[in-house]
Amino acid sequence: MATKYKEKLIKFECTDCKRVNYYSQKNKKVNKERLELKKYCRWCHKHTLHKETR
Ligand SMILES: [Zn+2]
Repeated sequence: MATKYKEKLIKFECTDCKRVNYYSQKNKKVNKERLELKKYCRWCHKHTLHKETR
């Protein structure tokens, strides 16, 4: 089992094209809600909203 990872690896996918563009880690303190970030999507060639996914 992969219990050695204390922080969960999360993915951020573009809400426009649904592609995963960014990876991040978060600890359990901020685990209560899904994150949304406005980041540049290289597929859409613009800044889009990226949502956390699993
Ligand atoms: Zn996109």
